[in-house]
Amino acid sequence: MDKERLEYFRKKLLKQREAILNKSKKLKEESYTLGTDGIQDMADAASNAYNADILMSLSDNDRTMVKEIDSTLDKIGSGTYGICEECDEPINEKRLEANPVARYCITCKRMIEEKGE
Ligand SMILES: [Zn+2]
Repeated sequence: MDKERLEYFRKKLLKQREAILNKSKKLKEESYTLGTDGIQDMADAASNAYNADILMSLSDNDRTMVKEIDSTLDKIGSGTYGICEECDEPINEKRLEANPVARYCITCKRMIEEKGE
């Protein structure tokens, strides 16, 4: 992959990373507000607990995603970005466009999923 394409994906990943972090920050602020609301009836309390669960699971996913983005950015730095980790063939750029953190080409991805790993 040439430098311009790499730079393009690097920027895309950084943007995605920033968006996740901003979202998490916002959610944290919202959950904080939810928790410090004054008097609330039972229905409100229940829905607040439900919201807190969503917020927690979201931040888990987001944390995983940020880690994946970071390791992908490492790969851009070391020049192995866009190479399938399984067969060492270049990953289709359309696939990277849709999923910039893809680690495998579509063939290997399918094989891995079939094996259930
Ligand atoms: Zn592959």
